[in-house]
Amino acid sequence: MAKIAIIGAGFGGMSAAWDLQRAGHEVTIFEAADYVGGLASGFKRPGWEWSVEKFYHHWFASDKHMLGLIKELGWEDKVLFPRPLTVMYHQGKFYPFDSIIKAILFPGLGFGINKVRFGLVGLFLRLTNNWKALERYTVDEWMRKWAGKKVYELMWEPLVVGKFGERHYQQVNMAWMWARLKARTTRLGTFEGGFQNFADMFAGRLREMGVKIRLQTPVTLIEREAGSGRIAVQGETSESFERVLVTLSPEAMSRLVPSLPEEYLHGLRSMKSMGAVVMILSLKHQLSEEGYYWYNLPKSAGYPFLALVEHTNYVSPEHFGGDHIVYMGDYLEPEHEFFNLSQEQLLERFLPTLTRFNPEFKLDWVNKTWLFRTAYAQPVPLVNHSKNIPDIQTPIEGIYFASMSQVYPWDRGTNFAVEIGRRAAGMIMGGLSNEKQVMRKE
Ligand SMILES: Cc1cc2nc3c(=O)[nH]c(=O)nc-3n(C[C@H](O)[C@H](O)[C@H](O)COP(=O)(O)OP(=O)(O)OC[C@H]3O[C@@H](n4cnc5c(N)ncnc54)[C@H](O)[C@@H]3O)c2cc1C
Repeated sequence: MAKIAIIGAGFGGMSAAWDLQRAGHEVTIFEAADYVGGLASGFKRPGWEWSVEKFYHHWFASDKHMLGLIKELGWEDKVLFPRPLTVMYHQGKFYPFDSIIKAILFPGLGFGINKVRFGLVGLFLRLTNNWKALERYTVDEWMRKWAGKKVYELMWEPLVVGKFGERHYQQVNMAWMWARLKARTTRLGTFEGGFQNFADMFAGRLREMGVKIRLQTPVTLIEREAGSGRIAVQGETSESFERVLVTLSPEAMSRLVPSLPEEYLHGLRSMKSMGAVVMILSLKHQLSEEGYYWYNLPKSAGYPFLALVEHTNYVSPEHFGGDHIVYMGDYLEPEHEFFNLSQEQLLERFLPTLTRFNPEFKLDWVNKTWLFRTAYAQPVPLVNHSKNIPDIQTPIEGIYFASMSQVYPWDRGTNFAVEIGRRAAGMIMGGLSNEKQVMRKE
């Protein structure tokens, strides 16, 4: 039995704790915030039965790691999979775009060769498994060549520009696009009560098993203790462990463990990522009368955000005391001005656009607003990314690292946080049993 520290009580950290504690180890999770769930956490207003995720969240029907974990926990009956409506913008109007038929009917590409190229490229990407061949190219060069300039500029370029910004969009590799098309489904899943309810139930189960979850306990330094071979986890106090797993961003990892060899630190520091800015509105009335859930918005059409998501066209407003919940969100570089503007300043920019979704919208529809920002929201996979991913087992014996930035070729998400957290737990346990065998032989 080993004493193991996990830094971060997001889904990665909690999933690792689930496997390690069940295997008989003594696990302590250190969490800086006063809640569990990390980026997938949510909040509740008085009168709401369900929480709302700070950053819009749902699962895909293909999220087997998350759905498998929920099954192990015995909570499958709490997973809901509605089929909400997603729409695409074209010349001032929105068109449903969440099935092959709808894509065929989408007027943006006309009904000639461009539609055929769009369909063939989509089919190829759904069928191929050879993402390694694709990661050698950028989305920009591959799509221009195979889908053609018109199809790319109309259908795919707005997506990569929106997600990775002007600075990075031409550098993102084609395996990222492959993974999106391969793994995504039109049925979208959530947990009864919201993701925060799931995170709280999961933390509750871990505590029952003996996992210590220390909230409001930020870790500031991790280093090997001279002599003892143990690892000191330091914050306001210091405690030593045999193994430590860090589930934070690469940048945070490089600050927490400055004694890592320069080459590994350099690898961490060269990982690129985008931040996210999300405004949430509670409205008195439904915004999209057509019942649309997800609006994909091209920046070129003058919207100040990438997506408008009406949560209560997916989950019933009855769970929120009749409030209608709308997200306005974007992925932005952490230096973007939206990280410095006040909530009022951002509302001044965002609210006038709501009449483009419903001409009846009035400012007095707004009950309350919330603003959430994070500098680490979406890793940017560059060409040949697989060669640059930092190893989970760091060069310092006993210190492990499992983050969103190592999730690949799949796009990050709670499903892959579960996968990488459990993979790291497996590596820790493998290392411990090898050590035991060596000691027995000696
Ligand atoms: C805008 C947006 C939309 C998303 N949409 C979806 C979606 O629809 N579906 C989906 O599945 N996923 C989605 N994701 C991704 C998903 O949230 C992440 O992949 C997942 O939550 C990552 O989990 P994690 O455990 O790796 O990291 P995190 O959730 O980031 O957990 C890390 C934890 O470490 C804590 N921490 C930080 N510093 C310290 C410190 N010094 N000491 C101790 N603790 C510390 C943090 O407070 C945090 O709780 C979205 C993310 C964003 C930003």
